[in-house]
Amino acid sequence: MRVIVAPLEDPKEVYQVCVHSIANECLRNRLTALENDICVAASDYKQKAKTKKLYTIPPNNCENEEIALGQVTKKELINVYSSHMVGKEKPARKAYYDLLLSRAPSGKCPFCGFGQVWTLDHYLPKTTYPQLSVVPSNLVPSCRDCNTGKSTFIATTENTQSLHPYFDHQIITNEQWLFAKVIETSPATIQFYVKAPIDWDEISKARVHSHFKDFKLELRYSLEASDQLGCLRDTLSQYRDLLGTMAVKQHLFIESQTHIRKHMNSWQTAMFQALSVSDWYCDGGFQ
Ligand SMILES: [Zn+2]
Repeated sequence: MRVIVAPLEDPKEVYQVCVHSIANECLRNRLTALENDICVAASDYKQKAKTKKLYTIPPNNCENEEIALGQVTKKELINVYSSHMVGKEKPARKAYYDLLLSRAPSGKCPFCGFGQVWTLDHYLPKTTYPQLSVVPSNLVPSCRDCNTGKSTFIATTENTQSLHPYFDHQIITNEQWLFAKVIETSPATIQFYVKAPIDWDEISKARVHSHFKDFKLELRYSLEASDQLGCLRDTLSQYRDLLGTMAVKQHLFIESQTHIRKHMNSWQTAMFQALSVSDWYCDGGFQ
């Protein structure tokens, strides 16, 4: 899980660039008439994101062919993104790339912290919140797995809102809540779990659990860790043979410290911490 700086792009400008490239004059005019509605929706979104109230924005459950806003159908609003922002050769493609690349300069997905950024994820899905289809604050760079594999569940309470990489910096970075333990199997495996600080409010505690569950991070982190454990085997054998078990422990501890300074709640931080305190693992469980 990583934080990224919220977009500076003006929602009105992004919407205008998308709409102005539409050849069909009637559709373009109907969409242009919604400019103020889109600005109001964007402003409301930002204010609610900052106060952790995005769950209070009412979903639009109309059918694709039904009017969603003004004289525009849900499908037409969604297409502003799908065809006129993502579409190659479209002027708004630049805004798409800017959000994709400059918001996540490391190239890593902020939702999981390890996947390669591949697309923009609608934090509030465009199929249910079509008015937010091209609102920059709702578009978060994401890896393919987080974008397509996350739960389709839509939060209707404060507790069930997953973390927002643009707006939840405090929860994500201030204190550790992602941990792991070594499972003494052959080969060793790592089990990840969430344990929020006890002095946190109940909503924040619930939200980190929701995020971990919605993005299926327990399994995905374990798979990443399995690969890393395979790579560590040879290095740790050499440490133990040359310098003893304590050197293995120290090496793993230093790794954990290096990772925690970079990303407090990364799977690597949790994994190296767990490995460094496991006497079983350091004494040969790594083989
Ligand atoms: Zn991801």
